[in-house]
Amino acid sequence: MDRHEEIIAIATRVASFIDSENAYCYEIGDGTVNYVYRVEDVEGHSVIVKHADTTRRNAEGLLLSTDRSAIEYAQFQALSEIVPNFIPRIYYYDRERHILVMEDLKEFEILREALLNFRTFPNFAAQVSRYLFDTLFKTTDLVVPAALKREQVRKLTNPEMCALTEKIVFTDPYEEQEEPVYSPENKALIESALYRNEALRTQVGLLKYRYKNVSQSMLHGEMNTTSVFINADTIKVFDPEYAFYGPMGFDVGTFIGSLLFPWLLGKLTDTEPARQFVEWLGDSIERIYERMQSEYENNYDALVTDAMARTAEFKELFYREVLGDSFGYAGTEIIRRTAGSLRTREFLGLRDPEKRARAERILIRMGTRLVMHRHVIPDGRAMMQLIRQLADMPDAFDA
Ligand code: ADP
Ligand code: MG
Repeated sequence: MDRHEEIIAIATRVASFIDSENAYCYEIGDGTVNYVYRVEDVEGHSVIVKHADTTRRNAEGLLLSTDRSAIEYAQFQALSEIVPNFIPRIYYYDRERHILVMEDLKEFEILREALLNFRTFPNFAAQVSRYLFDTLFKTTDLVVPAALKREQVRKLTNPEMCALTEKIVFTDPYEEQEEPVYSPENKALIESALYRNEALRTQVGLLKYRYKNVSQSMLHGEMNTTSVFINADTIKVFDPEYAFYGPMGFDVGTFIGSLLFPWLLGKLTDTEPARQFVEWLGDSIERIYERMQSEYENNYDALVTDAMARTAEFKELFYREVLGDSFGYAGTEIIRRTAGSLRTREFLGLRDPEKRARAERILIRMGTRLVMHRHVIPDGRAMMQLIRQLADMPDAFDA
């Protein structure tokens, strides 16, 4: 059996709503690592099949273990208990062959694409804040009994994918690269702002250390606009192969950081729809923070099981720490997607090289400021105020 026949056989066996006599299969994945297929019959019934191979899709010579696939399944299972409405339905997982069969979210589009087209979604902030609060706070050991939490941490230990993040997010952007992705005219600035900036390197080092050592909550691990599907009604979060237990601010901050790229793209685009989009998105970011905080304040006492975490001061200090982490990790996400090896698609929306170089300078300014000031920015509203101010600043570098 060739690979396609095998995929069709598995899919039609577990999804009886597909007509196995008239099913076909094609690859839809655009990723670098996994193979993603749609299996469909002539009536249009379909499922998605994700196959994690030991060889990477874009570089067959580079081997990667298939553990990420078992992690992805374990994470989907855990999420199905906490936020079943915000993930695709999972039909089947084949442990031997690392094949996951799931709901086809064909009525959705990837959040990054939607935002690149300056589309707005009224429920976005409410749904994102609910997803983040539920998945993050409810998996801490303030809520989950300690023994169970430790068992979960063990099950969701993900050394290989975490090592990738440690390199790509927390190391590479701060070191000279062989083939820089940023605009050549920003070379001197990037060198002084990132490579030779001892104060920044120290703070990023601390954030990296927290990423590695603070097993606070069950994280998605790659919570950015490419891991979220959206339509007019709702969001679906997918692709959790980077899942592990880490600081909850990492998921929050990575996501917020990834939103600031389309925000800035809109800001630098001089049209009415872009202006409305920028207003909506900035407002949504503020509301994500506000709603997370009110969920926290309103549900803390009922959810928390640890008697030692019951003081008002503990409640406040704990939140403050998460908030600071989230600003810091928003900063590292912005920096890595601007100056790291994997550059974000939003830059392609800036075709004028001068404008693109200016966007890079603004983003480096935002990223470094968020990292350096993460402990003193009081809330999401103040963060957005800072972001707006930095975007409007005259174009002289001032980290
Ligand atoms: P990778 O781990 O290789 O990044 P993803 O899980 O992100 O794989 O899937 C790659 C692409 O396949 C996604 O960007 C999306 O376009 C498509 N895809 C993945 N899962 C689904 C799904 N459940 N429904 C529809 N399309 C999907
Ligand atoms: Mg992906």
